[in-house]
Amino acid sequence: MHPSPARPRPCSTSLRNRTPRWPWIELGSARSRRRLAKAGSVSDYEYLVRESLDEGSIVRVFLNRPDARNAQNRGMLVELDDALTSAEANDEVRVIILGGLGPIFSSGHDLGSRVQQEELALGPKQHPTRKIHGGTRLGAEHRMLQEWHYYFDNTRRWRNLGKITIAQVHGNVLAAGLMLMWACDLIVAAEGTTFADVVGTRLGMCGLEYFGHPWEFGPRRAKELLLTGDSLDVEEAYRIGMVSKVYPEKQLADSTLEFARRIAKLPTVAALLIKQSVNQSVDQMGFHNALNSCFNLHQINHAHWAEVTGGASVGGTPEFGVPAWRDAPAVRPRLPA
Ligand code: ZN
Repeated sequence: MHPSPARPRPCSTSLRNRTPRWPWIELGSARSRRRLAKAGSVSDYEYLVRESLDEGSIVRVFLNRPDARNAQNRGMLVELDDALTSAEANDEVRVIILGGLGPIFSSGHDLGSRVQQEELALGPKQHPTRKIHGGTRLGAEHRMLQEWHYYFDNTRRWRNLGKITIAQVHGNVLAAGLMLMWACDLIVAAEGTTFADVVGTRLGMCGLEYFGHPWEFGPRRAKELLLTGDSLDVEEAYRIGMVSKVYPEKQLADSTLEFARRIAKLPTVAALLIKQSVNQSVDQMGFHNALNSCFNLHQINHAHWAEVTGGASVGGTPEFGVPAWRDAPAVRPRLPA
């Protein structure tokens, strides 16, 4: 867990040089929720919108905290696990699309919003998962178990889901936003999308709990991006194979749906075994074990900051040369526009 009550709100920080225009933001309004409900969408989640399309063969799940730039609080992550695993359990479902409402796909983990603080603190709004999976334990044991279950093992479970998953991303994809996206089988993006992990430069951390970076960026580019916090643009993401399709922003949702429909036509057994063949090949190449190892390094990194700050922070602080999140320089593009 990154959170330290005294730290500013990284979820409010993003690439400062662009404000994507995004029509889907309307989906987050009460009016559009009613429209979705009328169209057969299920809005039984607080932090997500879920839609069932094409006689249930395609499910779309949208992160729905547009005002918080889809920062991932505990409630959202628990709901997401429910939405994805219930879609996995439903034999009608063939393809799952995961997107975000509002200006960006996701700004990463919620490290300090009021909602997140209430979920963490003792009281009526404390999230029930703060009392299980190590939530009542202390120190590194508490942090390691909570991060394992709610940042790491859930992400890996979604990566291995028995259905084809497509991440539909736009705007900025920051830090743990990358984890959600990487857990999907395919990634499609709007023109102008950027990708960055700033936890090295802004938290003094060695990357995310789910360390997909070298596998997605390539080893040398992974080092550069983590050491600088620079962002990858969508053209480069496409060129290196992380992103499968790039669509104009206004056509992203429709084009992603068309893409999903093509895949949904495949016999389910073929789709499942194609997915598993690729995942098992990558696991044999070391992906599974490398993720485990790097999760442990991530925990050492947190424990270091907790130790040197006397327990005040599980990330780096200005006295140790890590700028406060709000004071950090803007994210720079890796390649000039
Ligand atoms: Zn962490």
